[in-house]
Amino acid sequence: MREFELIDLLTSRLAPRRDDTERGIGDDAAVLKPTPGRRLAVTTDTLIAGRHFPHDTDPADIGYKAIAVNLSDLAAMGADPAWLTVSLAAPTLARSWCEALIEGMQAACCDGSTALPIDIVGGDTTRADTLTLGVTAIGQVDAGGAITRGGARVGDWIAVTGTLGDAAAGLRLWPARHAAGIHEQALIDRLTRPTLRNGAALAGRVHAALDVSDGLLADVEHIARASRLGAQIALNALPCSEHLAAVVPDVDDRQRLQATGGDDYELCMTFAPGQYDALARALDCPLCVIGEIVASQGVTLIDAQGQAQAAADYGIRGWDHFAQTVSSGDDCSHGRER
Ligand code: ADP
Ligand code: MG
Repeated sequence: MREFELIDLLTSRLAPRRDDTERGIGDDAAVLKPTPGRRLAVTTDTLIAGRHFPHDTDPADIGYKAIAVNLSDLAAMGADPAWLTVSLAAPTLARSWCEALIEGMQAACCDGSTALPIDIVGGDTTRADTLTLGVTAIGQVDAGGAITRGGARVGDWIAVTGTLGDAAAGLRLWPARHAAGIHEQALIDRLTRPTLRNGAALAGRVHAALDVSDGLLADVEHIARASRLGAQIALNALPCSEHLAAVVPDVDDRQRLQATGGDDYELCMTFAPGQYDALARALDCPLCVIGEIVASQGVTLIDAQGQAQAAADYGIRGWDHFAQTVSSGDDCSHGRER
């Protein structure tokens, strides 16, 4: 396909559905109508083939994930997602590939529990050797209502939605995906299609939040640092899916995936213990308490024997794109493949 054919396809498939999208795809810029009195929350994440997802990922899954990782950031801020732009750089544009990509993007837009639709209102298309998708997401949040990483208080409970470690296990299973059984497939699906959580439920109830993209311990450390406090995490408390338990029976191996594996896109939040019930009711997914905010700085792990250990001594601590010089080929991080 030529570039203009793709834009025709995008224009026909992605007609705006929101009243506050005055102009979507098709002009030099989109025109958006923010709700008076609310704030805009804006985030960007770029996914690169071979780095953030394996080269042979289904285009619908690539589209889904590129959108989902951005919506997850908005959810972690307690923002209502509204608009997206998509920058696509690809070596070629095959029609069926583009159609699948768009279908995956639309599926992600419909997946969260948001009251209003989310519009893809623009983007850019260029040729590049490596397939790259950059998405910008714009959401809205009430003035003063954005949930930051820096608001945690001593005595807060730390909790996560859903389960941890599934996506990291899915990445490990990726080379054998064509022979995957039910549990293996469920883990691989969590890698390719991260579950979107309802960030609106957090508003007014939590002190700090983020989405778990780099690995739980690294992400909890972000909250601790930004709040100038510390955190204690109970390894045994980390929520585990039946699929992970079935595929990775070794407890140490499994807990390491749960504590340090990236790509789960669950929400991690801290709140006054008295808020737990209201929060669990408002979220439409399991909410598991995994630890507590403490005054002394740093992240401490409590192991099965009740022994404390600095998270830094436990092992790898989340993904840092610039932590090492890397090799060739697939080297996925969010989709960590080494
Ligand atoms: P310009 O030359 O002004 O940059 P383009 O020809 O690149 O315009 O884009 C035409 C329209 O198509 C614009 O509204 C732009 O936002 C949209 N668009 C281009 N590429 C994409 C894409 N990958 N996803 C969504 N919209 C896109
Ligand atoms: Mg352009």
